[in-house]
Amino acid sequence: REDGAGAGQSRFRLTLVRGDITEQHVDAVVNAANSSLLGGGGVDGAIHRRGGPAILAECRALRASRYGRGLPTGQAVATTGGNLPARWVIHTVGPVFSAGEDRSALLADCHRNSLRVADELGARSVAFPAVSTGVYGWPLDDAALIALRAVSQTPTSVELLSFVLFDDRALTVFRQAA
Ligand code: ADP
Repeated sequence: REDGAGAGQSRFRLTLVRGDITEQHVDAVVNAANSSLLGGGGVDGAIHRRGGPAILAECRALRASRYGRGLPTGQAVATTGGNLPARWVIHTVGPVFSAGEDRSALLADCHRNSLRVADELGARSVAFPAVSTGVYGWPLDDAALIALRAVSQTPTSVELLSFVLFDDRALTVFRQAA
């Protein structure tokens, strides 16, 4: 756990922690979802497993209404947290890494839009995973810089913002980036 890294113009406290996003006692956890909103592997699978069927039911309702074609990359939408300790899940769709095309603006959008949704919910504490760094293949060091820059440049009412990294290597990379 490492506190107090520079948070730029935002006033939140930044925490980098090694752990499981599904175990975080925060107002909202961010899900590294895919655009179907209907579940997947990695963070997404863990959130739906631990959070139970209520989250999936809400995701299906979102697909039947606002997001008939799925949630576009870079956007974010909330459901309740089901059985998770967190009250809400903010689902965001990271871009798949591409060596030939710079998609970093979309990865920054995920963080900006997740914080906007957190503000709309009135969430004071939010935990992010390392979006796009798993199945979507984004190099961890680059993703960490983009994520940390995006959150530090986004005005928000969130007071406690954490990145929850799944292993020691990811934690070390985020610490260096911070
Ligand atoms: P994406 O499809 O956006 O790449 P993934 O869920 O595959 O998302 O992976 C994102 C990151 O989250 C990876 O670094 C992975 O190691 C990590 N991760 C996987 N499961 C968890 C979990 N339960 N809590 C926190 N981080 C996790």
